[in-house]
Amino acid sequence: MNRLDIMTDLLVKRKLFKLVCGAGNEDAEEVRRLVFVYALAGAKCFDVSANVEVVRHAVKGIDEAIKYARKLNRKIIIRPFINVSIGMRGDPHVRKAVITDRCSQCRACIGECPTDAITEDLNIIEEKCIGCGNCEAVCSSGAIVFFHKDKNLKKLLQECKQCGAEQFELHAAVPDSRSVFEEWAMINEVITDNYVSMCLDRLHLGDSQLKRRIQKARDVSGKRFIVQADGVPMSGGKDDYNTTLQAIAIADIVMKSKIDVKVLLSGGTNSLTTKLADMCGVSYNGVSIGTFARNLVKDIIRQDDFMNNGEKIIRAVGIADKLITANIGEQIW
Ligand code: SF4
Ligand code: SF4
Repeated sequence: MNRLDIMTDLLVKRKLFKLVCGAGNEDAEEVRRLVFVYALAGAKCFDVSANVEVVRHAVKGIDEAIKYARKLNRKIIIRPFINVSIGMRGDPHVRKAVITDRCSQCRACIGECPTDAITEDLNIIEEKCIGCGNCEAVCSSGAIVFFHKDKNLKKLLQECKQCGAEQFELHAAVPDSRSVFEEWAMINEVITDNYVSMCLDRLHLGDSQLKRRIQKARDVSGKRFIVQADGVPMSGGKDDYNTTLQAIAIADIVMKSKIDVKVLLSGGTNSLTTKLADMCGVSYNGVSIGTFARNLVKDIIRQDDFMNNGEKIIRAVGIADKLITANIGEQIW
């Protein structure tokens, strides 16, 4: 089977678990370790930032996992896919926070940051910021603003592809359809032999607009099209049904549209996501988990000796494995 067929098989069998390393996460070493752990645990796709160094580190994490698998009595036969995320200007997944001089130095934001991007002296480490907005939500001084990093996209995507990215995803949670489809056309020019996905939520789009956008994107990409149904972007903190409810709700809209697309559940996803989808009779082809999955292992993988400590690796892989199995059941290796 070629790589497109392998991906199709995983999607049709609902065996795709995608780890979202963070569209805005440019901490390459953290991405390498996340990929290493989740590849050993059975994840088949990794969503990473449009950053060549990050893609290289994701490739390294996969290579290391394939080598290490023997020690855990596993064999990774299907090499996991790398998906590069591209954010439209205005999409929260790719913005970066900055603290302005309105800051009263109350320090409330420091503990709210899921990636420890805010330093003790109240600076934000750009590479670590994933644009989640938690800091802004607790800032009573209105001191946090966001900016978008403009990139020469076509050149960058070609470079990412040369380094090992096989799929691209457009984060299109913005109201302006014209700019979305300009970038969509370009993505489809660069990736012609594998899946392309569009990450959509309902912040700016009503149900009918959402369906129109999906149909139009499907017209461009054909059967290679995945809708990443994003409930509430970057909201996966808790492991309960309520947190994952909106991911199921948006997938339900896609399902009822009867447009022939593959659907990944995302945005607030946790260990209960596919269980809730099954209970609600909502169909899907896989699940993408970011915040929740990263938080489960972050304290272990950030330790300096992690990559050389077999006991810590086994612990992290065990935790990741439990989350994957809870969502997709028995895995295809
Ligand atoms: S919450 Fe706002 S005011 Fe308080 S330290 Fe953070 S940026 Fe400054
Ligand atoms: S809380 Fe979120 S938006 Fe704020 S600095 Fe941390 S990652 Fe960035």
